[in-house]
Amino acid sequence: MSDFSQLRLRSDLLGNLASLGYEAMTPIQAASLPHVLNGRDVIAQARTGSGKTAAFGLGLLDKLDVERFRIQSLVLCPTRELADQVARELRKLARAIHNIKILTLCGGQPIGPQIGSLEHGAHIIVGTPGRVGDHIRKGTLQLDHVAMLVLDEADRMLDMGFQDELDSIVGQLPASRQTLLFSATYPEQIASIAERVMHDPERIEVETSHSGQSIQQRFYPVNNDDERIEGLRLLLIKHRPDSAIVFCNTKVETETVADALRSIGFTALPLHGDLEQKARDLVLVRFANKSATVLVATDVAARGLDIDDLDAVFNFHVARDLDVHVHRIGRTGRAGSTGLAFTFFSEKERYKIDALAERTGIKIKEASLPAANQRNQTTYKPPMVTLQIDGGKKQKVRPGDILGALTGEDGVPGKAVGKINVTDTNAFVAVTRDHAKQALAKLSSGKLKGRSFRARRI
Ligand code: AMP
Repeated sequence: MSDFSQLRLRSDLLGNLASLGYEAMTPIQAASLPHVLNGRDVIAQARTGSGKTAAFGLGLLDKLDVERFRIQSLVLCPTRELADQVARELRKLARAIHNIKILTLCGGQPIGPQIGSLEHGAHIIVGTPGRVGDHIRKGTLQLDHVAMLVLDEADRMLDMGFQDELDSIVGQLPASRQTLLFSATYPEQIASIAERVMHDPERIEVETSHSGQSIQQRFYPVNNDDERIEGLRLLLIKHRPDSAIVFCNTKVETETVADALRSIGFTALPLHGDLEQKARDLVLVRFANKSATVLVATDVAARGLDIDDLDAVFNFHVARDLDVHVHRIGRTGRAGSTGLAFTFFSEKERYKIDALAERTGIKIKEASLPAANQRNQTTYKPPMVTLQIDGGKKQKVRPGDILGALTGEDGVPGKAVGKINVTDTNAFVAVTRDHAKQALAKLSSGKLKGRSFRARRI
C-alpha cells in the first residue's frame, strides 16, 4: 500500500526516490499524495519529521514544467530556518530534473541580491510571508503563473501574525491554482483561512501517536515553580542528557527557567519568538553542536527545529492542549533510542493529565523525584564548547579551512572537532571541552585564507 511506484509520479522523480533511499511512503505521504497528484486542494495535519515536505514537494515537482521558465510554485514558511530546510529537501527531490531553479526569499537577509536572482528567473519560490510580500510590493516578484501554493506550518504563520500578509499574497495569485496547507494543529483560524483560500479541500489527518518510537513518560506532582526547578535539577543530574528541551508556556517563563538553570551551573539557553534571527541562529548552533545542554523553549519557537536526537523532553507545565503535549514528547525517542519525557503538574493541572490518560490510553503513574539529599551531586557540562571566528562566507572562510587550521601542526586531533557552521560574517566550530584552550590558541595564532581572524569562546 505504501509503495511510491503505485503513484502516478514522473519516472525521473520515482527513480530518484529510490536513490535517496526512500523505500516506502510515510503515512502522511500515503494519505495525501494521491489527492495532491490528482490536483485536489489538500489540508494535511502533520508534524515535522512526518515526511510532509516530500508530500507537497513531490506534488509540486510532478506538476512543474521546467521548459517554461516562470514561477510556477510558491511555498510559504513561517521562518527562514524552515524555508532553508524545505528548499534543501526540494533540491534533493528534484535532483533528477535538470535546470530547475529553486529560490529562497526570506527576511533578515539583504534584499538586493534577491532582486538580482529574481531577475534571472526561477521555477519555485520558497519564502517567508513578510519578505515575499515586500517583493510583491516592490514589483520584483510576479506570481501570475503560480499553479501551486503551499502553506507550510500554517498554524505557526498565523501565530506569528502573518494573517494579513498571507491574505494579501494569496490575492496576487491566479484563482485557478492548487493549494496545499500543512499544519501541525488545526485551530479555528486555520479553518477560516482554508475557507477563504482553498477550493473544496480534502482533509487528511494521520495518527499522531509515535508508533515505532520508544518514549518513557513520567509525571511528577509539584506545588510550585521552585519545586519544578528543583525537579529539573535532580532529573538532569540523574539522567545526564547531552541534549534536552524544557517546554514552557510563555516567553517570560523560558527566560526565568533558563536563568535558574544557569545559576545552578547548567548550560541552558532560552528560545522564544522575541529573539532576533541572529540570536536565534546562535542558540540553535550551540544546542545542535552539543555545547549547550538545555534549550528552554516555547512551543511556537521550537516548532520546525531540525533537531531530532533529543535525549529528554521536560514539560515545565502541562501543555495547554493535548495535541501539543503529544508533539512535544515526540521530539525524543527517535531513531531507535529510548527517549525520556518528564512532565511536572500541579493539583490544578491534574485534570489535564487525566484527559491525556483517557485520550492516549496510557496509564499514568505518579513518579517521585530522585532523592534530594544528593546535594553533593554536581551539575555537569556539555561535551563540547563553541568557538566563534570573526570571519565567514563573505571572507571566503569554509569549514575545510577551519578544520585544517585546527588540526595542523601542534593542533588538536580531528576527532576533537565537532560541527562547523559558517554564516555570512562568522563561523562557529564545536570542539571537545578538553581541547578548547588549545584549539582557541591555534585559531588565534594561525591564519585562515592567509589572514588572521579573531576567535573567542562563547
Ligand atoms: P519532514 O517531515 O518533511 O521534515 O521530513 C523528515 C525527514 O524524513 C527528512 O529528512 C526527509 O528527507 C525524510 N523522508 C521523507 N520522506 C521519506 C520516506 N518516504 N522515506 C524515508 N525518509 C523520508
